[in-house]
Amino acid sequence: MNIKTFNDLIEEVHKPGICQQCGGCVSFCNSIENEVIGFKEPNLPPEYINKEKCLKCGICYLICPQTHVLDLDLNKNFNFSDFSSMPLGFVEGFYSCQATDKEFLKYGTDGGVVNSIINYLIEKRMIDGAIVAKTRAPFSREAIIAKSKEDLIKASGVKLNVSPQLHTVQKFHTYTRSLPKLRHYKFKKLALVGTPCQIYTIRCMQNLGIIPSENIEICLGLFCYENFFFDELKVEKFEKEFKLKLKNIERLNIKEDLIINLKNKGTSQNVIHIPFNKLSKYMRSACGVCNDFTNIYADISFGGLGSPNKFTTVITRTKKGKEIINKVIKAGVIKTLNLDAYTQKEMKEKIVQFSQSKILRMEKNMRNKLRT
Ligand SMILES: Cc1cc2nc3c(=O)[nH]c(=O)nc-3n(C[C@H](O)[C@H](O)[C@H](O)COP(=O)(O)OP(=O)(O)OC[C@H]3O[C@@H](n4cnc5c(N)ncnc54)[C@H](O)[C@@H]3O)c2cc1C
Ligand code: SF4
Ligand code: SF4
Ligand code: SF4
Repeated sequence: MNIKTFNDLIEEVHKPGICQQCGGCVSFCNSIENEVIGFKEPNLPPEYINKEKCLKCGICYLICPQTHVLDLDLNKNFNFSDFSSMPLGFVEGFYSCQATDKEFLKYGTDGGVVNSIINYLIEKRMIDGAIVAKTRAPFSREAIIAKSKEDLIKASGVKLNVSPQLHTVQKFHTYTRSLPKLRHYKFKKLALVGTPCQIYTIRCMQNLGIIPSENIEICLGLFCYENFFFDELKVEKFEKEFKLKLKNIERLNIKEDLIINLKNKGTSQNVIHIPFNKLSKYMRSACGVCNDFTNIYADISFGGLGSPNKFTTVITRTKKGKEIINKVIKAGVIKTLNLDAYTQKEMKEKIVQFSQSKILRMEKNMRNKLRT
């Protein structure tokens, strides 16, 4: 059988410009101790470093979110069959929630729900920690392992730039065939907060039984319409176009558009909304060929879209996800809005609209890439 390897990823994913730079292939390369592949340049796809050490096992190809080799298997595992006719994936439960803890709510992107749930899971020792992303600056991020409420507060809020979560999994897992030296690492059970491309890779690995994916106890997926890439030139362009300075941004949010809260409170220009169609030149090119908005393979998905201000839209998808949501509601960690059937229908329609628009954008961009 002809096994496709990293070479095929270069031809089929990197060269057409659709690598999502999720880091999955690098973090879980079967020959990681030999540093076969790696990111040489930030914001460019990974490359061969020691090509001769490649085992040609094909793991990197199978788990890449852009090859879609395992889609049918995953769709079956996650209770749906046709992605395009059902852009929300399998929806077990649908909620609009808010953290009851004042700090998580205050610092949260929307309702502070994701971090409240992680904190509960840590306190109840259901996980040892969670891989989250901490802000360094607006549009800049750093993946960290959060082990406490303090860590989580530091990691609250959205960072609109891709965060190499999967690489951090590799650093903090307890057991793996390729990196036995990491055996003594402390963390055993982790939650992973991630965008759809990141969660997809983990699910592929779990589907194939590849270590250390078993360390991921729960996948908490964020909605994601797009992510951004800024270099110095783009920062300059962005600041000029939207008449602001990145250093004056207090917080960012993203729902049906990009919402920028500026530091200069008290002025009418404190909050700026930028529609997605004005942001295409700042979007990472890989995002233009991504089709999942609501994180269909997560245990629980979270987004702002559809919910009122300071509430998070929550979709449970798996038995595990449902059990966790029931527990945190019962424990009073989060409260839920009482959604009548009409409101729920309206929320879902809005989310379906964005999901479909993302699929259409992907189809259009793929057609364009195939033409060139
Ligand atoms: C790149 C990106 C794009 C998004 N796009 C949309 C959108 O188009 N529409 C929409 O409705 N919602 C979108 N969201 C989700 C939304 O911004 C909130 O994250 C979600 O509603 C949860 O809010 P919360 O207050 O409950 O979470 P919180 O309790 O504040 O927790 C948020 C968690 O997400 C982690 N996190 C933040 N940034 C990243 C990142 N870049 N990568 C991985 N983890 C991260 C934080 O560390 C924290 O643990 C997006 C999120 C991201 C990161
Ligand atoms: S999308 Fe992710 S897994 Fe695929 S080639 Fe790019 S970095 Fe590797
Ligand atoms: S060793 Fe396997 S996972 Fe690593 S680059 Fe080669 S084919 Fe990909
Ligand atoms: S749109 Fe979001 S999920 Fe898709 S590639 Fe970009 S960051 Fe990943």
